[in-house]
Amino acid sequence: MRYAILGDVHGNLEALDAVLARADALGVDHFAQIGDIVGYGPDPGPCIARLRDRETVIVAGNHDWAVVGKLDAHTFNPYAREAVEWTRRQLDRAELHYLESLPLIQEPDGDFTLAHATVDQPEVFDYIQTYQDAQRSLDELRTSVGFIGHSHVPMSFVRRDELMHTDARYLRLEDVGRALVNVGSVGQPRDENPLAALALFDTRTREYALERVPYDIETTAEKIRRAGLPEVLAQRLFVGR
Ligand code: ZN
Repeated sequence: MRYAILGDVHGNLEALDAVLARADALGVDHFAQIGDIVGYGPDPGPCIARLRDRETVIVAGNHDWAVVGKLDAHTFNPYAREAVEWTRRQLDRAELHYLESLPLIQEPDGDFTLAHATVDQPEVFDYIQTYQDAQRSLDELRTSVGFIGHSHVPMSFVRRDELMHTDARYLRLEDVGRALVNVGSVGQPRDENPLAALALFDTRTREYALERVPYDIETTAEKIRRAGLPEVLAQRLFVGR
């Protein structure tokens, strides 16, 4: 099966539609998403609908949890907190219930693992910053590869004889002992590349590839301004930070 693995979407419909169109052009027919469907961006409801249409395998992110009150948004920066409050007001009961029901870990057909932030403590939403952090997630994996997001920066930890990290855009994961792959972000990249991230994984060949897809940032930014969301949330999209 060929999967598109979608990183943090954050209510950015233009970016989501661009990566879905690219996935369609490549003949991808399975979809997974690592959480943070909503927060920051101006189209939370339509982004939920798009992913549900595709029968996407999804886990919960910290913004999804904050919007439905499962996580205290006090630890968020003021812009993120404002966007959480705004997002909550945009969603209907069914959409809120959908976010509330998302699991923290998924292992579709045992082919790979999905988690938003870490595999060992997915409910804490910590960042993986050190080899020890990565090691703890790798030890908890019950599949050879795990896909995560949260930092919005694509990068991979690969453990064969020893643990190493790489920002390679193409990996063959078949002969790998264990790998933890951050797929970057669809709707709010932070690696100083404003293009939307689209990760592709073939469960048969175990090939992983990360593409970057252009989208209409100006339209998304204009929607953010019209919604009355903080200007910084529009500006950062142009620079990928
Ligand atoms: Zn996020």
